[in-house]
Amino acid sequence: MSLIRRIDLRDAGAGSATTDYRAAVPRADFDIEAAVPAVHAICEEVRTRGLDAIVEFGEKFDGVRVDDIRVAPAAMQDALDRLEPDIRAGLEESIRRLRATCANELEQDAVTDLGPGARVTHRKVPVGRVGLYVPGGLAPLVSSVLMNVVPAQTAGVESIALASPPQKEFGGAVHPTILAACALLGVEEVYAVGGAQAIAMFAYGVGPCRRVDLVTGPGNIWVVTAKRILKGQVGIDSEAGPTEIAILADDTGNAAYVAADLISQAEHDPLAASVLVTTSERLAAEVEAELDQQVAATKHSERITTALGGKQSAIVLVRDLEQGLDVVNAYAAEHLEIHTEDAAAWAARVRNAGAIFVGPHAPVSLGDYCAGSNHVLPTAGCACHSSGLSVRAFTKSVHVVDYTAAALAEVAAHVVTLAEAEDLPGHGAAITVRSTR
Ligand code: NAD
Repeated sequence: MSLIRRIDLRDAGAGSATTDYRAAVPRADFDIEAAVPAVHAICEEVRTRGLDAIVEFGEKFDGVRVDDIRVAPAAMQDALDRLEPDIRAGLEESIRRLRATCANELEQDAVTDLGPGARVTHRKVPVGRVGLYVPGGLAPLVSSVLMNVVPAQTAGVESIALASPPQKEFGGAVHPTILAACALLGVEEVYAVGGAQAIAMFAYGVGPCRRVDLVTGPGNIWVVTAKRILKGQVGIDSEAGPTEIAILADDTGNAAYVAADLISQAEHDPLAASVLVTTSERLAAEVEAELDQQVAATKHSERITTALGGKQSAIVLVRDLEQGLDVVNAYAAEHLEIHTEDAAAWAARVRNAGAIFVGPHAPVSLGDYCAGSNHVLPTAGCACHSSGLSVRAFTKSVHVVDYTAAALAEVAAHVVTLAEAEDLPGHGAAITVRSTR
């Protein structure tokens, strides 16, 4: 029996029939609505009881009591001093590539002159203070430090705080590799707090942590639910939950590569989704055989087997690549790989994906660490309306309106007319008073 199920869509949506491809390829039971009551209670406890509640939730969910949640700068420097040189080299290369793409993403102010003395500027302003979340439940995601911090720093954010779960194995400290990465990037404000309590700490400003304007970063259901609940109280990036990979492949696909890439994302979480959409029966059968072989040999085979065997993972057979494109656009995966002939042309026609990886030599793992792209990406279909983390996420825009008296007079009659049309004469009076007084 195969580790992953098949879904056959070859007869679906043919001719005039329409098929809801999003529903045909289901996602995991990642029920945010069901988690809301528990997460709401955590947020309220943190808001009303502050630091005591944070310490108690850490003890309960992370299995370790940490009374002093703020990490001492000396601990970060110490972690950097002890960091293995090859890990440091990997982090530095990743930072170098991220900085290059982030510098290129910086947007200029847009200045529009609408006539003599009438100017509107769309000014780009960095967010003032941000709270960055770095997961540390199942794996210490040091790469998420870079993915959060580099775009924030490039955008010009003045105040950066970062939180990651306390690790029982390290006596309640944040994982040392995460601390080393913070030191490498010059991040000084780090908290040993995980889960929903970390997001609430950022949103309300609790204990030693001042309130932030924006929270970013990936996380599990508790983190994502807290972001949804506290949105408004604080800004958030996308809902970046359990990871997903979709692969669109034709008969040119290499089964060993495809299987390895499906496994690489299943390794993150039992709720992770690995989906192959293919026109090729040959590839489907070979990938099934490769999965059997490769999963057995991998370290986290239990977690991977659960993720691949879940209803959220599948090999989806389609009749041609046009139908495959419809399926992946409807699915809106966090990560989409294209393993087809003329992969770039198919990639150009994808509308919905958090990030697209073109051809056999651009696996998602490259993007997870060192491509220069960002790995904090929208999941659960949110890629049809949200974007991954970038410099833009840490920047807001403000229209600056600059008119002279003559420029105002030029358009005054239109303003007064429109104000009357809305039955708001006070608006019109604020214009006419300027020509009479
Ligand atoms: P995490 O840091 O997100 O969550 C760990 C925290 O969850 C703990 O600190 C604890 O406080 C809290 N928690 C645990 N059990 C709880 C319970 N019963 N009730 C309340 N809170 C509880 O780490 P993780 O669990 O490893 O999850 C990381 C997730 O991030 C994975 O699903 C991974 O796929 C995802 N991820 C997504 C992206 C993306 O861009 N979408 C990128 C990287 C990682």
